[in-house]
Amino acid sequence: MRLIWILLPAVLCRAASLGPSPSDIDHLYPGIEALYIDIHSNPELAFQEKQTAAKLAARVKELGYEVTTGVGGTGVVALLKNGSGPIVMLRTELDALPVTEQTGLPFSSKIPGVMHACGHDLHMAAWAGTAQWMAAHRADWHGTLMLIGQPAEEAGSGASAMLKDGLFVRFPKPDFAIALHDDDTLPAGVIGYHAGFFRAAADFPTVTIFGRGGHGAMPQNTVDPIVIAASTILAWQTIVSRENDPQSPVVITVGAIHGGTKNNIIPDQVQLLLSVRTFDPLVRKRVLAAIARIAKGEAEAAGAPREPLIEPTTGMTGDAAVYNDPELTNRLAATLKKGMPPGNVVEMPAKMTSEDFSDYGRAGVKAALLHIGAVDPEKLAESRRTGVPVPAPHSPQWAPVRETTIKAAVQAETLALLNLLN
Ligand SMILES: [Zn+2]
Ligand SMILES: [Zn+2]
Repeated sequence: MRLIWILLPAVLCRAASLGPSPSDIDHLYPGIEALYIDIHSNPELAFQEKQTAAKLAARVKELGYEVTTGVGGTGVVALLKNGSGPIVMLRTELDALPVTEQTGLPFSSKIPGVMHACGHDLHMAAWAGTAQWMAAHRADWHGTLMLIGQPAEEAGSGASAMLKDGLFVRFPKPDFAIALHDDDTLPAGVIGYHAGFFRAAADFPTVTIFGRGGHGAMPQNTVDPIVIAASTILAWQTIVSRENDPQSPVVITVGAIHGGTKNNIIPDQVQLLLSVRTFDPLVRKRVLAAIARIAKGEAEAAGAPREPLIEPTTGMTGDAAVYNDPELTNRLAATLKKGMPPGNVVEMPAKMTSEDFSDYGRAGVKAALLHIGAVDPEKLAESRRTGVPVPAPHSPQWAPVRETTIKAAVQAETLALLNLLN
């Protein structure tokens, strides 16, 4: 009898940390699916997410959270204080992309040229479900839950806008920050984790090459910036293949070339818009320097009348690499492996895409960004067989498998929070 009393608290504690049951999630799902469909049909671009933010704010207010809106523009901060203990932040993004939807879904975007093509709608639905379960099970955890709805992830400037507006000053600075992002390389509902550098740093330099324009039939009287641009673009690729350690991945993409007006006119200048991805801060510095060095060298070799103009970022804000705190990431992976169905938590490779979630880690918070598969397993298997990729985030056809992914996302988020808030 005595033994029972000794063991009972331990048993209860264990039961408490198991998170939502399948029936709990079935119970809250219709409400968050309705939110998902509503937000998917009514997407809003970066820093214009007024209606989206209002929808999230209203939901969590009703659940008893202390809600502040307009943080860093359109951001939402919702706090649920539940005794003493750690402070844990869960982020969702709010913004959609300038993409014209081609999913054919009955609840496709009603806004021409705007679409939730990155799954931020799915992240919001899961965030709302997690908020609901955590509010209804306060006996299972203690500490402060800090839910944030972040604007403008796609612009690369939403996280920094919230931080500049006092996210960690006006509100408690969290001990841990976590987020979940949907993924095209994993089956629906499968969680992917990666300790250390996970998402690449992004830089968007613009390089303007100057020549001396003239008649297309008399090149001898000109310095052709199009030819200089062509040799510069090819030479840049040798940074990746010849200057860089292959163990530290680098991507240099020239996404746009602007130059010239007509077949028979050699223009005065050509503008190149680059996207540069790296992980290691030292490599990042070296690659950006090499881009400038090669551009100047090629221009000089061609006898250009002046040095190229190199603007570090134009129009787009760069992101630092996302660094997943290894201790936190491994702790979450172990917790999720215990609580999720077998095989549903896997280590995944780092990705060259970027995320401004990196800003929270750089602000001194232990942070981890996990991914969640959102693709029909059969389609994924077929794509692996044929080598034809499935649509990915930012594609006009990106349509996550809705129910499985949202439900697994709620389960993963609550399990992670319960572990960190105990
Ligand atoms: Zn995106
Ligand atoms: Zn995204």
